[in-house]
Amino acid sequence: MTAVGTGRFGAVLNRIEKETAELRERGCPADYIPGLAGADIRRFGMAVAEPDGTVYGVGDWRTPFSTQSITKVFALALALSLEGEQIWRNLGREPSGNPFNSLVQLEYENGVPRNPFINAGALVVTDRLQSLTGDAAGQVRDLLRAESGNPAIDFVPEIAASEAAHGDRNAALAHFMASYGTIANPVPGLLAAYFRQCSIEASCADLALGASFLARRGVREDGSALLTPSQAKQVNAVMLTCGTYDAAGEFAYRVGLPGKSGVGGGIIAVVPGVCTLCVWSPGLDRRGNSVAGVSALDRFTTLTGLSVF
Ligand code: GLN
Repeated sequence: MTAVGTGRFGAVLNRIEKETAELRERGCPADYIPGLAGADIRRFGMAVAEPDGTVYGVGDWRTPFSTQSITKVFALALALSLEGEQIWRNLGREPSGNPFNSLVQLEYENGVPRNPFINAGALVVTDRLQSLTGDAAGQVRDLLRAESGNPAIDFVPEIAASEAAHGDRNAALAHFMASYGTIANPVPGLLAAYFRQCSIEASCADLALGASFLARRGVREDGSALLTPSQAKQVNAVMLTCGTYDAAGEFAYRVGLPGKSGVGGGIIAVVPGVCTLCVWSPGLDRRGNSVAGVSALDRFTTLTGLSVF
């Protein structure tokens, strides 16, 4: 990994850091996970990784933060690489239009979640990964370590425990799906794996590098293929339509890129063939997406003219 302060988009990043300054007063950290509630909403980092492994950024771009739902992308990529189309057996790929932790659609739709990036769908992916590998969360962590070149990336047991202690909503989703036979593993172990996966801490630099295979048509840092070009396209497409929950339409409108947010305040975004981006700022809007983060990505695509449209 080459780390430099500037690069092809260095000037743009500097401008975005200044232009989003006043937004870093807005929004609230996720408070339903007590371990995240104390995050400082003035923190801001943004990194760009180019397909050759060059990475650079501004602000707190090297500070680890709680990746949360961003890990859903890596879990899906691993599951797709291991079992291909089979992963869609009990999993849709339509936007839900509902909050990420909503239960309401599940009963109407016979226990099959709308997509892999809401919590119910992510539990299905983690369940498959657990069955296929025996250690879903470890696989996600190891993929991130390998792609970012950072062996220090790890779980944060206190965050996993904090979420588990307040995890009634996710437990309800998992038990409900178990009643339909949508998931195979015992619920307590599945929840533990899911909370561990969500507790992974990584920086903007780590995540921008980690997601680079999505800008390289599925090719990993070492040149091997994690996904086929077609599968990489599929993951990017689901990120575009479902990656920011019930704000996915607004995100596509403003940013115009495949993106995935997490309630730690991070968002990754992909410009296929050009670069991957990661932005972090913990102040969330009411749908659980970083206020300054969405604006920073909006500014990036507006200033550079880069988007998938
Ligand atoms: N761990 C969080 C949860 O399951 C992840 C949600 C998110 O980042 N949107 O509620």
